Amino acid sequence: MSFEFLGLSDKILSAVAAAGYTEPTPIQMQVIPSILMGRDVLGIAQTGTGKTAGFTLPMIDILAEGRAKARIPRSLILEPTRELAVQIEESFNKYGKNHKLRCALLIGGTSMEDQIKALNKSVDVLVATPGRLLDHFGRGNVMLNGIEILVIDEADRMLDMGFIPDVERIRKLILGKPQTLFFSATMPPPIKKLTDAFLDDPKSVEVSSPTRTAVTVEHHYVPAPRRDKIKILRKILEQAHVTSALIFCNRKRDVTTVYKAMQKFGLNARELHGDMEQSLRLEVLNLFKSGEVDYLIASDVAARGLDIKDVSHVINYDVPMVVEDYIHRIGRTGRAGKKGHAILLLDPRERDLMERIERGARCKILPLRDQRPEKKAPFEKQPPEDKKSSREKPPAQKPPTQKPAAQKPEFKKQPERTADKKKAPRRHPNGVQEMEDHQGPGLGGHVPAFLMQPSSGKKT
Ligand code: AMP
Repeated sequence: MSFEFLGLSDKILSAVAAAGYTEPTPIQMQVIPSILMGRDVLGIAQTGTGKTAGFTLPMIDILAEGRAKARIPRSLILEPTRELAVQIEESFNKYGKNHKLRCALLIGGTSMEDQIKALNKSVDVLVATPGRLLDHFGRGNVMLNGIEILVIDEADRMLDMGFIPDVERIRKLILGKPQTLFFSATMPPPIKKLTDAFLDDPKSVEVSSPTRTAVTVEHHYVPAPRRDKIKILRKILEQAHVTSALIFCNRKRDVTTVYKAMQKFGLNARELHGDMEQSLRLEVLNLFKSGEVDYLIASDVAARGLDIKDVSHVINYDVPMVVEDYIHRIGRTGRAGKKGHAILLLDPRERDLMERIERGARCKILPLRDQRPEKKAPFEKQPPEDKKSSREKPPAQKPPTQKPAAQKPEFKKQPERTADKKKAPRRHPNGVQEMEDHQGPGLGGHVPAFLMQPSSGKKT
């Protein structure tokens, strides 16, 4: 089926074509006609399904008719995190490029003044996180009596983050009955209660089970006693064909500890967690998205919904406490039909947790060594597609015995302590990293045997 049959305008169709989409995704096929008809929608869908365009495209067409007044936005999209809000704004700009709609972003961590200036102009689409929106409302900067369309996105994430009372307050501040589009990956009872209160005879769409992981992702674990995790992580990054990796830790303080260690090893890494300034979070995210940063060590703030293309590996430094977090974390790899790799650093004490994840996510997490095949390594580099990103450069032809000086990739130099210089990984132009010494300094008996061997690209 093509987009032409969904009832969208020519202007939107041309923006969709410019985005390179040829066919609507299942959720788009089901929700776009209903939204255009003015119906409420309940979408049970996880990120990666195309749900953003599913609500953005018809909203632009609906809002194209009519005009906004200063401080009285015509539509409101609530997002749980600042990063997601920024992504939604980007989507509106992309799909609305043939329209003259004005979009404003109200998120914490950025200037109130700039946001007030934006509100003082007419706003067709307001994208906000609940706290900052209520802050502006309390100061009289924005009125919510003109909202024609309300979108509540990632509702279960709002629940996890304790935002539901704010969302209920906001809904009460919106006078009348806006068309309401409600999206959530899961439907725990408090969310179900919310949908009953907010939605009127909605078109319900469930596109894929949130308790299932993408089939394009291979799941592995590496035995890693807690005290050795950093060293083992380093070995994995050095030996495997890891072109880019998101490394998740359960705790913020571990994010920083791992990040500092990676820096010390001379790896091109950055950290991302909720305690960082918003501007810095966005900067780091953009550096990772563009391929200028190879490894991003993150807390779960980065796990949900972020559309980061071509992440070859997601590494779980810890076993996530809940199944949904595992699913969302590894959802950053293996996107859009590409192959992805999820590697879990497993402390023996975390085995029960891992088995719970396997049952809940309906996937088998295999020991990595069992997956070292003769023909194809699990870490095998992704074929490059988008030439914009440095991480997707085609592999060079040179063998991995080249001099280190000629092998330096083009990334910003990380601070490196002199004592560690010798140990810094040598990266080959094709992204394969050569072992400095096969003994793995300081790893002792805890390192799985396969990590002591040269990378699989060199094996017979
Ligand atoms: P989302 O689930 O909204 O986060 O979307 C995930 C990714 O799918 C984004 O990178 C979109 O650009 C992409 N996308 C959305 N709709 C389509 C489509 N019809 N065809 C191909 N890619 C799409």
